[in-house]
Amino acid sequence: MDLYILLATGNDNKVREVNEIASEYRKASDRIHVISMKAVGIDSDPEETGSTFIENARIKARAVAGLIPSDDPDARRQWQYSHGIEPEGKLIVVADDSGLVIDAMGGMPGIYSARYLGRDTSYSFKMNHILEEMKDVPDEKRTARFVAAIAAVLPDGTCCDASGTMEGRIGHEICGANGFGYDPFFYLPEYGKTSAELQPDEKNKISHRGKGIRAMFDQLERL
Ligand code: IMP
Repeated sequence: MDLYILLATGNDNKVREVNEIASEYRKASDRIHVISMKAVGIDSDPEETGSTFIENARIKARAVAGLIPSDDPDARRQWQYSHGIEPEGKLIVVADDSGLVIDAMGGMPGIYSARYLGRDTSYSFKMNHILEEMKDVPDEKRTARFVAAIAAVLPDGTCCDASGTMEGRIGHEICGANGFGYDPFFYLPEYGKTSAELQPDEKNKISHRGKGIRAMFDQLERL
């Protein structure tokens, strides 16, 4: 049976990356389809009241799953059909909650990464602010990681989780135009560049999101 992954995010960068990761995965299995909320006309932006990445990922996944008929199988098949999804396909809602954990800042911005210094503040401002705060921090203490928690809600309402991390350091400058968010100052010593200087396929191979989504797809395929 084909799997339809409905991504519970309004962040186009996440949709793009998960699609790229899924297309790699599809070389081994062509039965996974990724759908954005936009494609099925859902708009959901629940308050992230959790205190961990995984709690927030579950909140986002459950909010979207709650908008799809779940108790009545006929109503669910009808909903899928009317939204261009094969009625017999297995529709799973998947959410990603992610962020940047900086050791020298006690784990900040962490779960607040998107909201840090204001949701509408530009990332160049956020990164420059952090660079200024960390100007006296030596290289060995600039350790940081991106974390992605992935939560899925299955058609019967049960949840499963996966996660991934990408270790690196906060660089000394902003470099690179790929990726999004905090990528341009996230320095990867073994590559000698930031994650914004990696090609998308290179980033997806080693990224928190790549690892978390692949681990989730592995679990879903086993079910
Ligand atoms: P969320 O939408 O609440 O999960 O917020 C995730 C935030 O973490 C993003 O808006 C970025 O600020 C940051 N973030 C997560 N993943 C990445 C990444 O791959 N690159 C750069 N920033 C990221």
